[in-house]
Amino acid sequence: LNVLLIGSGGREHALAYGLSKSDKLGQLYATPGNAGILQLAEKADLSVKDHQSVINFCKEKDISFVVVGPEDPLVDGIADSLRNAGLDVFGPSKAAAQLEGSKGYTKDLCAEFNIPTAAYARFGNEADALTYLNDNPAPIVIKADGLAAGKGVTVAMTQDEAVAAIKDCFDGAFGDAGAEVVIEAFLQGEEASLFALCDGKTALLMPSAQDHKAVGEGDTGPNTGGMGAYTPAPVMTPELTQEVMNKIIQPTLDGMASRGAPFSGVLFLGLMITDKGPELIEYNVRFGDPECQTLMMRLESDLLELLLASARGELTGKSLQNSDDVVMNVVMAAKGYPASYTKGTAINGLDAAESIDGVKIFHAGTKMDGDQLVANGGRVLNICARGASVTEAQARCYEAISKLDWADGFCRSDIGWRAVAREAK
Ligand code: ATP
Repeated sequence: LNVLLIGSGGREHALAYGLSKSDKLGQLYATPGNAGILQLAEKADLSVKDHQSVINFCKEKDISFVVVGPEDPLVDGIADSLRNAGLDVFGPSKAAAQLEGSKGYTKDLCAEFNIPTAAYARFGNEADALTYLNDNPAPIVIKADGLAAGKGVTVAMTQDEAVAAIKDCFDGAFGDAGAEVVIEAFLQGEEASLFALCDGKTALLMPSAQDHKAVGEGDTGPNTGGMGAYTPAPVMTPELTQEVMNKIIQPTLDGMASRGAPFSGVLFLGLMITDKGPELIEYNVRFGDPECQTLMMRLESDLLELLLASARGELTGKSLQNSDDVVMNVVMAAKGYPASYTKGTAINGLDAAESIDGVKIFHAGTKMDGDQLVANGGRVLNICARGASVTEAQARCYEAISKLDWADGFCRSDIGWRAVAREAK
Protein backbone atom coordinates (compact mmCIF):
# COMPACT_ATOMS: atom_id res chain seq x y z
CA LEU A 1 0.00 0.00 0.00
CA ASN A 2 1.47 3.35 -1.03
CA VAL A 3 0.73 6.17 1.39
CA LEU A 4 0.93 9.98 1.24
CA LEU A 5 1.58 11.77 4.54
CA ILE A 6 0.74 15.48 4.76
CA GLY A 7 2.67 17.67 7.20
CA SER A 8 6.14 18.70 8.33
CA GLY A 9 6.24 18.62 12.13
CA GLY A 10 7.51 16.30 14.83
CA ARG A 11 4.04 14.80 14.83
CA GLU A 12 4.38 13.77 11.20
CA HIS A 13 7.91 12.39 11.70
CA ALA A 14 6.48 10.21 14.47
CA LEU A 15 3.61 9.12 12.21
CA ALA A 16 6.11 8.32 9.44
CA TYR A 17 8.10 6.26 11.96
CA GLY A 18 4.93 4.38 13.00
CA LEU A 19 3.80 3.79 9.41
CA SER A 20 7.28 2.60 8.38
CA LYS A 21 7.14 -0.24 10.90
CA SER A 22 4.14 -1.77 9.10
CA ASP A 23 4.87 -4.60 6.68
CA LYS A 24 1.81 -3.47 4.72
CA LEU A 25 3.52 -0.22 3.73
CA GLY A 26 4.74 0.05 0.15
CA GLN A 27 6.23 3.46 -0.67
CA LEU A 28 5.69 6.34 1.74
CA TYR A 29 5.49 9.83 0.25
CA ALA A 30 5.45 13.03 2.30
CA THR A 31 4.60 16.65 1.59
CA PRO A 32 6.32 18.88 2.53
CA GLY A 33 8.16 16.73 5.11
CA ASN A 34 11.32 17.62 7.02
CA ALA A 35 14.84 16.15 7.18
CA GLY A 36 13.72 13.34 9.50
CA ILE A 37 10.58 12.43 7.56
CA LEU A 38 12.51 12.42 4.30
CA GLN A 39 14.79 9.68 5.65
CA LEU A 40 11.67 7.50 5.65
CA ALA A 41 9.65 8.93 2.78
CA GLU A 42 10.06 10.24 -0.73
CA LYS A 43 9.37 13.97 -1.02
CA ALA A 44 6.23 15.06 -2.87
CA ASP A 45 6.28 18.70 -3.96
CA LEU A 46 2.62 19.57 -3.61
CA SER A 47 0.51 22.54 -2.72
CA VAL A 48 -1.89 20.98 -0.22
CA LYS A 49 -4.46 23.76 -0.76
CA ASP A 50 -4.79 22.57 -4.36
CA HIS A 51 -6.78 19.40 -3.73
CA GLN A 52 -6.85 18.38 -7.39
CA SER A 53 -3.05 18.39 -7.59
CA VAL A 54 -2.91 16.07 -4.57
CA ILE A 55 -5.46 13.75 -6.21
CA ASN A 56 -3.46 13.76 -9.46
CA PHE A 57 -0.25 12.92 -7.60
CA CYS A 58 -1.93 10.01 -5.80
CA LYS A 59 -3.22 8.62 -9.12
CA GLU A 60 0.19 8.99 -10.73
CA LYS A 61 2.03 7.22 -7.87
CA ASP A 62 -0.63 4.60 -7.21
CA ILE A 63 -1.29 5.96 -3.71
CA SER A 64 -4.59 4.84 -2.22
CA PHE A 65 -4.29 6.16 1.35
CA VAL A 66 -3.62 9.68 2.59
CA VAL A 67 -2.78 10.51 6.22
CA VAL A 68 -3.39 14.15 7.12
CA GLY A 69 -1.31 15.41 10.07
CA PRO A 70 -2.34 19.05 10.72
CA GLU A 71 -5.75 20.64 11.22
CA ASP A 72 -5.70 23.36 8.57
CA PRO A 73 -6.15 21.10 5.52
CA LEU A 74 -8.88 19.16 7.36
CA VAL A 75 -10.85 22.28 8.27
CA ASP A 76 -10.33 23.28 4.62
CA GLY A 77 -12.06 20.06 3.47
CA ILE A 78 -9.18 18.11 1.96
CA ALA A 79 -10.57 14.80 3.28
CA ASP A 80 -13.84 15.36 1.39
CA SER A 81 -12.08 16.11 -1.91
CA LEU A 82 -9.81 13.07 -1.62
CA ARG A 83 -12.66 10.76 -0.59
CA ASN A 84 -14.75 11.96 -3.51
CA ALA A 85 -11.86 10.92 -5.74
CA GLY A 86 -12.00 7.38 -4.30
CA LEU A 87 -9.04 7.61 -1.88
CA ASP A 88 -9.01 6.45 1.73
CA VAL A 89 -8.19 9.31 4.10
CA PHE A 90 -7.19 9.38 7.76
CA GLY A 91 -8.84 12.52 9.09
CA PRO A 92 -12.33 13.97 9.37
CA SER A 93 -14.56 15.62 6.77
CA LYS A 94 -14.85 19.40 6.70
CA ALA A 95 -18.19 19.14 8.52
CA ALA A 96 -16.73 16.97 11.31
CA ALA A 97 -13.55 19.09 11.54
CA GLN A 98 -15.76 21.88 12.92
CA LEU A 99 -15.15 20.20 16.28
CA GLU A 100 -11.80 22.00 16.11
CA GLY A 101 -12.61 24.71 13.56
CA SER A 102 -15.40 26.31 15.61
CA LYS A 103 -15.38 26.39 19.40
CA GLY A 104 -19.04 27.48 19.35
CA TYR A 105 -19.95 24.42 17.27
CA THR A 106 -18.41 22.13 19.88
CA LYS A 107 -20.04 23.96 22.79
CA ASP A 108 -23.46 23.67 21.12
CA LEU A 109 -22.86 19.95 20.55
CA CYS A 110 -21.99 19.54 24.24
CA ALA A 111 -25.14 21.40 25.26
CA GLU A 112 -27.32 19.30 22.94
CA PHE A 113 -25.90 15.95 24.06
CA ASN A 114 -25.26 16.69 27.74
CA ILE A 115 -21.48 16.47 27.48
CA PRO A 116 -19.78 17.99 30.56
CA THR A 117 -18.09 21.29 29.70
CA ALA A 118 -17.88 24.82 31.12
CA ALA A 119 -21.05 26.97 30.92
CA TYR A 120 -20.82 29.29 27.91
CA ALA A 121 -22.42 31.81 25.58
CA ARG A 122 -21.69 32.75 21.92
CA PHE A 123 -21.51 36.32 20.62
CA GLY A 124 -21.37 37.90 17.17
CA ASN A 125 -20.89 41.47 18.43
CA GLU A 126 -18.91 43.32 21.07
CA ALA A 127 -21.78 45.08 22.84
CA ASP A 128 -23.62 41.87 23.71
CA ALA A 129 -20.39 40.20 24.79
CA LEU A 130 -19.56 43.10 27.14
CA THR A 131 -23.07 43.04 28.61
CA TYR A 132 -22.72 39.32 29.34
CA LEU A 133 -19.34 39.96 30.92
CA ASN A 134 -20.92 42.48 33.31
CA ASP A 135 -23.29 39.78 34.55
CA ASN A 136 -20.56 37.08 34.57
CA PRO A 137 -17.42 38.71 35.93
CA ALA A 138 -13.80 37.43 35.86
CA PRO A 139 -12.24 34.96 36.28
CA ILE A 140 -13.66 34.03 32.90
CA VAL A 141 -12.39 32.69 29.58
CA ILE A 142 -12.67 34.53 26.26
CA LYS A 143 -12.17 32.54 23.04
CA ALA A 144 -12.07 33.50 19.38
CA ASP A 145 -14.41 30.99 17.71
CA GLY A 146 -12.13 29.87 14.87
CA LEU A 147 -8.57 28.56 14.39
CA ALA A 148 -6.03 30.98 15.86
CA ALA A 149 -2.98 28.73 16.28
CA GLY A 150 -3.48 28.50 20.05
CA LYS A 151 -3.43 32.29 20.48
CA GLY A 152 -7.17 32.99 20.45
CA VAL A 153 -7.83 32.06 24.07
CA THR A 154 -7.55 34.42 27.04
CA VAL A 155 -7.97 33.10 30.55
CA ALA A 156 -8.90 36.45 32.11
CA MET A 157 -8.29 36.73 35.83
CA THR A 158 -9.50 40.36 35.87
CA GLN A 159 -12.40 42.21 34.28
CA ASP A 160 -9.99 44.51 32.40
CA GLU A 161 -8.23 41.57 30.76
CA ALA A 162 -11.58 40.12 29.73
CA VAL A 163 -12.75 43.41 28.22
CA ALA A 164 -9.46 43.77 26.33
CA ALA A 165 -9.71 40.22 25.00
CA ILE A 166 -13.25 40.78 23.73
CA LYS A 167 -12.24 44.03 22.05
CA ASP A 168 -9.20 42.34 20.45
CA CYS A 169 -11.39 39.68 18.88
CA PHE A 170 -13.91 42.11 17.45
CA ASP A 171 -11.13 44.50 16.34
CA GLY A 172 -9.82 41.73 14.09
CA ALA A 173 -6.75 40.54 16.03
CA PHE A 174 -7.54 36.99 14.84
CA GLY A 175 -9.10 37.90 11.50
CA ASP A 176 -12.24 35.93 10.65
CA ALA A 177 -11.50 33.49 13.49
CA GLY A 178 -12.46 36.23 15.98
CA ALA A 179 -15.64 37.43 14.25
CA GLU A 180 -17.49 35.24 16.73
CA VAL A 181 -16.56 34.91 20.38
CA VAL A 182 -17.27 32.21 22.96
CA ILE A 183 -17.24 33.25 26.61
CA GLU A 184 -17.06 30.43 29.09
CA ALA A 185 -16.85 29.82 32.82
CA PHE A 186 -13.39 29.42 34.33
CA LEU A 187 -12.67 25.80 35.28
CA GLN A 188 -10.23 24.79 37.98
CA GLY A 189 -8.31 21.54 38.08
CA GLU A 190 -5.50 19.63 36.40
CA GLU A 191 -5.39 19.46 32.61
CA ALA A 192 -4.83 16.29 30.62
CA SER A 193 -5.10 15.22 27.01
CA LEU A 194 -6.67 12.01 25.79
CA PHE A 195 -6.70 10.58 22.29
CA ALA A 196 -9.21 8.26 20.62
CA LEU A 197 -9.08 6.77 17.15
CA CYS A 198 -12.56 7.01 15.65
CA ASP A 199 -14.24 5.63 12.55
CA GLY A 200 -17.57 7.48 12.62
CA LYS A 201 -19.21 5.21 15.18
CA THR A 202 -16.58 3.39 17.25
CA ALA A 203 -13.77 4.85 19.34
CA LEU A 204 -10.57 3.08 20.33
CA LEU A 205 -8.82 4.71 23.27
CA MET A 206 -5.19 5.69 22.96
CA PRO A 207 -3.10 6.74 25.97
CA SER A 208 -3.38 10.03 27.81
CA ALA A 209 -0.68 12.70 27.89
CA GLN A 210 0.17 16.04 29.43
CA ASP A 211 1.93 18.86 27.66
CA HIS A 212 3.72 22.08 28.55
CA LYS A 213 2.61 25.02 26.41
CA ALA A 214 4.50 27.89 28.02
CA VAL A 215 8.00 28.69 26.81
CA GLY A 216 9.50 29.30 30.28
CA GLU A 217 10.49 27.20 33.27
CA GLY A 218 7.68 26.51 35.73
CA ASP A 219 5.12 27.01 32.92
CA THR A 220 5.68 30.76 32.70
CA GLY A 221 5.96 33.14 29.77
CA PRO A 222 4.21 33.16 26.40
CA ASN A 223 2.48 30.10 25.00
CA THR A 224 4.07 28.04 22.24
CA GLY A 225 3.01 25.12 20.07
CA GLY A 226 4.23 22.94 22.95
CA MET A 227 7.64 22.63 24.66
CA GLY A 228 7.29 19.07 25.86
CA ALA A 229 4.93 16.27 26.84
CA TYR A 230 4.78 12.89 28.51
CA THR A 231 2.51 9.88 28.48
CA PRO A 232 0.62 8.64 30.41
CA ALA A 233 -0.88 11.53 32.40
CA PRO A 234 -0.78 10.31 36.01
CA VAL A 235 -4.07 12.12 36.71
CA MET A 236 -5.96 9.93 34.18
CA THR A 237 -6.84 6.82 36.16
CA PRO A 238 -8.55 3.92 34.34
CA GLU A 239 -11.85 4.86 36.05
CA LEU A 240 -11.60 8.45 34.92
CA THR A 241 -10.73 7.34 31.40
CA GLN A 242 -13.80 5.12 31.28
CA GLU A 243 -15.93 8.01 32.52
CA VAL A 244 -14.57 10.21 29.72
CA MET A 245 -15.37 7.47 27.20
CA ASN A 246 -18.95 7.15 28.45
CA LYS A 247 -19.78 10.80 29.10
CA ILE A 248 -17.75 12.60 26.44
CA ILE A 249 -16.31 10.51 23.59
CA GLN A 250 -19.18 8.15 22.78
CA PRO A 251 -21.89 10.85 23.07
CA THR A 252 -19.78 13.01 20.73
CA LEU A 253 -19.56 10.23 18.14
CA ASP A 254 -23.28 9.52 18.43
CA GLY A 255 -24.12 13.24 18.29
CA MET A 256 -21.93 13.86 15.25
CA ALA A 257 -23.45 10.87 13.44
CA SER A 258 -26.96 12.12 14.21
CA ARG A 259 -25.98 15.53 12.83
CA GLY A 260 -24.94 13.86 9.56
CA ALA A 261 -21.25 14.59 10.21
CA PRO A 262 -19.80 11.30 11.50
CA PHE A 263 -16.33 11.82 12.94
CA SER A 264 -13.43 9.72 11.73
CA GLY A 265 -9.76 10.30 12.46
CA VAL A 266 -8.24 10.99 15.84
CA LEU A 267 -10.23 12.88 18.43
CA PHE A 268 -7.89 14.80 20.73
CA LEU A 269 -9.61 15.83 23.95
CA GLY A 270 -8.36 18.70 26.06
CA LEU A 271 -9.75 17.90 29.52
CA MET A 272 -9.93 19.65 32.85
CA ILE A 273 -10.12 17.21 35.75
CA THR A 274 -12.25 19.18 38.20
CA ASP A 275 -13.64 18.29 41.64
CA LYS A 276 -16.88 17.38 39.88
CA GLY A 277 -15.17 15.10 37.38
CA PRO A 278 -13.72 15.47 33.88
CA GLU A 279 -14.93 18.38 31.72
CA LEU A 280 -14.18 18.97 28.07
CA ILE A 281 -12.10 22.10 27.38
CA GLU A 282 -11.68 21.60 23.68
CA TYR A 283 -11.53 19.17 20.82
CA ASN A 284 -8.82 18.93 18.22
CA VAL A 285 -9.33 16.73 15.17
CA ARG A 286 -5.72 15.57 14.73
CA PHE A 287 -2.89 14.31 16.91
CA GLY A 288 -1.25 16.76 19.29
CA ASP A 289 2.31 17.84 18.65
CA PRO A 290 4.39 17.14 20.92
CA GLU A 291 2.05 14.43 22.35
CA CYS A 292 1.89 12.29 19.20
CA GLN A 293 5.61 11.57 19.34
CA THR A 294 5.25 10.01 22.79
CA LEU A 295 2.21 7.96 21.75
CA MET A 296 3.98 6.57 18.69
CA MET A 297 6.86 5.36 20.85
CA ARG A 298 4.43 3.40 23.02
CA LEU A 299 2.23 2.00 20.26
CA GLU A 300 2.84 -1.70 19.66
CA SER A 301 -0.02 -2.31 17.22
CA ASP A 302 0.33 -1.76 13.47
CA LEU A 303 -0.28 1.98 12.97
CA LEU A 304 -1.03 1.69 9.26
CA GLU A 305 -3.71 -0.94 9.89
CA LEU A 306 -5.32 1.18 12.61
CA LEU A 307 -5.35 4.41 10.61
CA LEU A 308 -6.75 2.59 7.59
CA ALA A 309 -9.46 0.98 9.73
CA SER A 310 -10.35 4.44 11.06
CA ALA A 311 -10.61 5.76 7.50
CA ARG A 312 -12.73 2.83 6.31
CA GLY A 313 -15.13 2.60 9.28
CA GLU A 314 -13.65 -0.73 10.37
CA LEU A 315 -12.47 -0.13 13.94
CA THR A 316 -15.19 -2.22 15.61
CA GLY A 317 -13.59 -5.29 17.16
CA LYS A 318 -10.06 -3.96 16.74
CA SER A 319 -7.77 -3.40 19.72
CA LEU A 320 -4.74 -1.30 20.31
CA GLN A 321 -1.65 -2.34 22.29
CA ASN A 322 0.76 0.02 23.99
CA SER A 323 3.92 -0.60 25.96
CA ASP A 324 3.75 0.16 29.68
CA ASP A 325 6.64 2.60 29.39
CA VAL A 326 6.45 6.22 30.31
CA VAL A 327 7.62 8.30 27.35
CA MET A 328 8.72 11.92 27.55
CA ASN A 329 9.33 14.40 24.75
CA VAL A 330 11.47 17.50 25.34
CA VAL A 331 11.22 20.02 22.51
CA MET A 332 14.30 21.92 21.37
CA ALA A 333 13.50 25.23 19.74
CA ALA A 334 15.52 27.96 18.06
CA LYS A 335 16.55 30.75 20.45
CA GLY A 336 13.97 33.52 20.33
CA TYR A 337 10.99 31.20 19.71
CA PRO A 338 8.00 31.81 20.00
CA ALA A 339 8.97 35.33 18.89
CA SER A 340 11.50 35.84 16.06
CA TYR A 341 14.35 33.37 15.58
CA THR A 342 17.07 32.52 13.07
CA LYS A 343 16.92 29.70 10.55
CA GLY A 344 19.81 27.83 8.99
CA THR A 345 21.99 27.20 12.06
CA ALA A 346 23.93 23.90 12.10
CA ILE A 347 22.87 21.01 14.34
CA ASN A 348 25.18 18.10 15.19
CA GLY A 349 25.39 15.22 17.64
CA LEU A 350 22.11 13.43 16.89
CA ASP A 351 23.76 10.01 16.60
CA ALA A 352 25.46 10.39 19.99
CA ALA A 353 22.18 11.49 21.57
CA GLU A 354 20.25 8.60 20.03
CA SER A 355 22.83 6.08 21.21
CA ILE A 356 21.46 6.49 24.74
CA ASP A 357 19.21 3.64 25.74
CA GLY A 358 15.52 4.34 25.03
CA VAL A 359 16.11 7.62 23.21
CA LYS A 360 14.66 8.59 19.84
CA ILE A 361 14.73 11.98 18.15
CA PHE A 362 11.93 13.20 15.93
CA HIS A 363 12.59 16.16 13.66
CA ALA A 364 10.29 19.18 13.39
CA GLY A 365 11.71 22.31 11.71
CA THR A 366 14.81 20.78 10.12
CA LYS A 367 16.22 20.43 6.64
CA MET A 368 19.44 19.29 4.98
CA ASP A 369 21.80 21.91 3.63
CA GLY A 370 24.06 19.70 1.57
CA ASP A 371 25.30 17.15 4.12
CA GLN A 372 24.62 19.41 7.10
CA LEU A 373 21.44 19.23 9.19
CA VAL A 374 20.18 22.77 9.85
CA ALA A 375 17.33 24.39 11.76
CA ASN A 376 14.41 25.44 9.60
CA GLY A 377 11.70 26.53 12.04
CA GLY A 378 10.81 27.54 15.58
CA ARG A 379 10.37 24.12 17.14
CA VAL A 380 13.18 22.06 15.67
CA LEU A 381 13.80 18.73 17.45
CA ASN A 382 11.84 16.43 19.75
CA ILE A 383 14.07 14.48 22.12
CA CYS A 384 12.02 11.51 23.27
CA ALA A 385 12.92 8.84 25.78
CA ARG A 386 11.16 5.91 27.34
CA GLY A 387 11.59 4.87 30.95
CA ALA A 388 10.00 2.90 33.75
CA SER A 389 9.02 6.20 35.38
CA VAL A 390 8.68 9.85 34.40
CA THR A 391 11.82 10.50 36.41
CA GLU A 392 13.83 7.96 34.41
CA ALA A 393 12.46 9.11 31.04
CA GLN A 394 13.23 12.71 31.97
CA ALA A 395 16.83 11.89 32.96
CA ARG A 396 17.39 10.15 29.62
CA CYS A 397 15.93 13.06 27.65
CA TYR A 398 18.27 15.56 29.28
CA GLU A 399 21.28 13.26 29.01
CA ALA A 400 20.58 12.98 25.27
CA ILE A 401 20.23 16.75 24.98
CA SER A 402 23.64 17.20 26.63
CA LYS A 403 25.14 15.25 23.68
CA LEU A 404 23.62 17.57 21.09
CA ASP A 405 25.69 20.28 19.54
CA TRP A 406 23.38 23.14 18.55
CA ALA A 407 24.51 26.51 19.86
CA ASP A 408 21.36 28.26 18.65
CA GLY A 409 18.91 25.88 20.36
CA PHE A 410 17.24 25.86 23.75
CA CYS A 411 14.80 23.73 25.72
CA ARG A 412 13.00 23.87 29.03
CA SER A 413 14.85 22.00 31.75
CA ASP A 414 11.75 21.03 33.74
CA ILE A 415 9.46 19.08 31.39
CA GLY A 416 7.33 16.73 33.48
CA TRP A 417 8.03 18.55 36.75
CA ARG A 418 4.58 17.94 38.17
CA ALA A 419 4.73 14.18 37.50
CA VAL A 420 8.34 13.95 38.76
CA ALA A 421 7.30 15.64 42.00
CA ARG A 422 4.42 13.17 42.33
CA GLU A 423 6.85 10.27 41.93
CA ALA A 424 9.18 11.73 44.54
CA LYS A 425 6.41 11.68 47.16
P1 ATP B 1 -4.46 25.06 21.84
O1 ATP B 1 -4.59 25.07 20.36
O2 ATP B 1 -3.30 25.85 22.35
O3 ATP B 1 -4.63 23.72 22.48
P2 ATP B 1 -6.83 26.54 21.78
O4 ATP B 1 -6.46 27.86 21.31
O5 ATP B 1 -7.52 25.64 20.85
O6 ATP B 1 -5.62 25.85 22.43
P3 ATP B 1 -8.23 25.90 24.27
O7 ATP B 1 -7.54 24.60 24.38
O8 ATP B 1 -9.69 25.95 24.26
O9 ATP B 1 -7.71 26.78 23.07
O10 ATP B 1 -7.65 26.78 25.49
C1 ATP B 1 -6.26 26.97 25.67
C2 ATP B 1 -5.91 26.84 27.12
O11 ATP B 1 -6.65 27.79 27.90
C3 ATP B 1 -6.28 25.50 27.71
O12 ATP B 1 -5.27 24.55 27.51
C4 ATP B 1 -6.48 25.84 29.19
O13 ATP B 1 -5.23 25.92 29.85
C5 ATP B 1 -7.05 27.22 29.14
N1 ATP B 1 -8.53 27.16 29.19
C6 ATP B 1 -9.38 27.06 28.16
N2 ATP B 1 -10.66 27.01 28.58
C7 ATP B 1 -10.62 27.12 29.92
C8 ATP B 1 -11.62 27.16 30.96
N3 ATP B 1 -12.92 27.12 30.68
N4 ATP B 1 -11.19 27.27 32.23
C9 ATP B 1 -9.89 27.36 32.54
N5 ATP B 1 -8.90 27.33 31.63
C10 ATP B 1 -9.25 27.21 30.32
